[in-house]
Amino acid sequence: MIKVCKFGGTSMADGITIGRVKRILEADPARRYIVVSAPGKRFSGDIKVTDLFYQAAQEVKEGGHVGPSYERIEARYISLVEELALGIDIHALLEETKAAIEADGSADFAASRGEYLSGRIMAALLDVPFIDAKDVIKFQGGLFDAERSYTLVREALRGKFRAVVAGFYGEDENGRVKTFSRGGSDITGAVVARGVGADEYENWTDVSGFLACDPHIVPSPVGIDKLSYKELRELSYMGANVLHAEAIYPVREAGIPIRILNTFRPQDKGTRIQPTERFRPSERTVTGIAGRKDFTVIFIEKAQMNEMSGFALRPLEILKRHNISFEHMPSGIDTLSFVIDSKQLGGGVLDEILAEIREAVHPEKLNVILDIALIAVVGHGMYQKVGTAGRLLSAIARAGVNVRMIDQGSSELNIIVGVDNENYERSIRAVYEEFFGREGA
Ligand code: ADP
Ligand code: ASP
Ligand code: MG
Repeated sequence: MIKVCKFGGTSMADGITIGRVKRILEADPARRYIVVSAPGKRFSGDIKVTDLFYQAAQEVKEGGHVGPSYERIEARYISLVEELALGIDIHALLEETKAAIEADGSADFAASRGEYLSGRIMAALLDVPFIDAKDVIKFQGGLFDAERSYTLVREALRGKFRAVVAGFYGEDENGRVKTFSRGGSDITGAVVARGVGADEYENWTDVSGFLACDPHIVPSPVGIDKLSYKELRELSYMGANVLHAEAIYPVREAGIPIRILNTFRPQDKGTRIQPTERFRPSERTVTGIAGRKDFTVIFIEKAQMNEMSGFALRPLEILKRHNISFEHMPSGIDTLSFVIDSKQLGGGVLDEILAEIREAVHPEKLNVILDIALIAVVGHGMYQKVGTAGRLLSAIARAGVNVRMIDQGSSELNIIVGVDNENYERSIRAVYEEFFGREGA
C-alpha cells in the first residue's frame, strides 16, 4: 500500500502545525511520499509566504534587490525551524535563497522558493531524502509535460521508502523554474501519486473534506462523503478551490482515489473521490454547489439561425482570432450566447468582438450582459429526480433574485444559472437551503 500525502499551506503554517503533520505521517506507514506547500496563513489577516515571495520578486524587479518582504520571509522560516528545534542552518539557506532570487529575477523562481524551503525543512524533520521538484516536474513549450514527469518521479523515488517533494513548481526546457497556477501543489501531489502508482492520494487541508458549498458563504455547510471524478471536476472548475481543478487528470487516468482530509481533525472521515464508473451516487439529489463571479454574456439573436448551416462557426472564429475561450454556449432556435470570463475582455477587446460579430452575422439583436456570476449545481443524483431545475429556480426566485441565464449541461450532471454578481451570495444561500436545509436532500 502506497499513499502520497500533500499538505497545504495551513498545515505548513508554523512549527505546531508541522508537528501535527509529522504525527499524521507516523500514524500510517503507507504514507510514504510527501508533497508540501509553502507556509500559509496562521490566522485570518496573516499573509501567505508565497505572496511575500511574489512581493520580493517585485522588489528585485524595481531595485535589483529584495526588500522588506524578504525580512518577513526570513522571520517566518527562522521561527518555524526554532519551534521544531531542527538542526538545519536556516540562516545559510535563507542567504543562499536570497542571492538566487536576485540572480534569477523571475517571479516564478521567487514564488517557488516557498515550497523549496518547506520541502527542505520537512525532509530534515522526517530525516528522509528531499526531491527538488525541478528535477522531476517538467514543462515544455509552456505546458506541463505529464508523461516525462511521471517517468522522472518514478525513477527518482524508486528504492526510496520515504521522500519529500516540493510542490507547486518544476523546470522548463531552458532550465528555468516555472510554477503551476496558484494552488498548484495539489497538481504536484497528483503527479507524484501517478508517478509512483499510489493506491491513494491524500490531500490534507484545513477543512474535513469537500463541503456542499463554500464555507465563506454558508457557515458550516454539510460535508460530502464521496464524489466522483466528474463531480469533482465540475465543482473545482466552477470555483470550489479546495482542490486545484487540474489536479484530477493525473490520478483519474490511473483510477487512483483522492481523499480530502483535515490536518486539524485527522480522525474525521473527509471526502473520498473515486472513479466515475465505480461510483454509486448517494441518496442526495444535489452533491454540491459552486460558483464564480465576473462573467460576461454575449447574446446573439437572428431569425432562422437554425437553418443556416455553420452559423455558429462565424462568431466562434471571431473568438478564436482574439484567443478567447468561453465557458458555456447556451443556444435556442434563433439565439446563441457565449459566457466568457470577463478577465479576457478588457482593454477594448469586447467592443472589437461585438463589432466583428455585427459585421459577420448581421444579428437582429446583439446584447451584452456584464457582471454575471455563475452558480453550478452538481450531482449524479439530479437526473433521476423529477423537478430539480424547478426547485433550483424557485429557490432563487424566492430570494428575490432574477435568473439571467440557464444552461443545463448535456451530461445531466450539472445545471448552471447566471445571476448578477451582487446577488451571488444570496442565491447560493437560497440554493443551499433548498437542497441541504432542514427539509432538503
Ligand atoms: P490548502 O492551503 O490546504 O491548499 P486551500 O485554501 O487551497 O487549502 O483550500 C481549502 C479551503 O477551501 C478551505 O479552507 C475553504 O475555506 C475553501 N473552500 C471553498 N469552497 C469549499 C468547499 N466547497 N468545500 C471545502 N472548502 C472550500
Ligand atoms: N504556495 C502556492 C500558492 O499559494 C501553491 C499552493 O499552495 O498549492 O498558491
Ligand atoms: Mg490549495
